[in-house]
Amino acid sequence: MTQAETAVTPRPSENTGLMTDRIVVLSGPSGSGKTTVVNRLVNQSAVPLVKSVSATTRPPRPAEEHGEDYYFLTDEEFRVRLGQDDFIEHAEVFSSGFFYGTLRTELNRAWDQGAWAFLEIDVEGAFNVMRQYPDAVTIFLKTPSPEEFERRLRARGTENEETIQKRLATAARELEYADRYRYSVVNETDGVDQTVNQICEILKSEETSKNA
Ligand code: 5GP
Repeated sequence: MTQAETAVTPRPSENTGLMTDRIVVLSGPSGSGKTTVVNRLVNQSAVPLVKSVSATTRPPRPAEEHGEDYYFLTDEEFRVRLGQDDFIEHAEVFSSGFFYGTLRTELNRAWDQGAWAFLEIDVEGAFNVMRQYPDAVTIFLKTPSPEEFERRLRARGTENEETIQKRLATAARELEYADRYRYSVVNETDGVDQTVNQICEILKSEETSKNA
């Protein structure tokens, strides 16, 4: 079986028979080329996608905008929103001390537009979503090899060595979880077009089966 065939072979989902709403979850180690893939997908998918804007306690990076890249919250604001049950999931990502979470209002923002809510979140958050929404379409984006992953991470030049080591450890752990996702797609070096096309095909077939 070729890699492309592996990538688009769905694993059986738990069919609850319930009419659940449209959610796509994409996870993958940083350095898997996620951001590029996500941006392209949101712009070119034939299936309407609205990217969920997560809340985080991480401080903004240069050029990041509140409400567009993230909702940047203080620890206290995050805690208050948690207490109000405003999140469908949240996690401390990379043992960084920073929290990230998906707001319920983001799902409604997508659904109100007749679109799929597109969540780019870590594995812990993804498992949480899977438990609540067993029909969510879950996709794990892999790098071709651990060596390639490390090369890409270092090539970005945005993280210090300690952060790189943490992210490598997280990535190794995350890979072990990849088979719990319904699909896994390998993002080959220089293969963004192919990756985006594969995911578009997955979404089209999921949309068709939802409408059946
Ligand atoms: P960054 O700090 O580089 O923007 O994001 C780090 C990681 O946080 C991303 O790779 C993404 O997987 C994860 N993340 C972003 N938003 C959320 C969220 O709402 N929930 C969870 N669980 N993880 C998130």
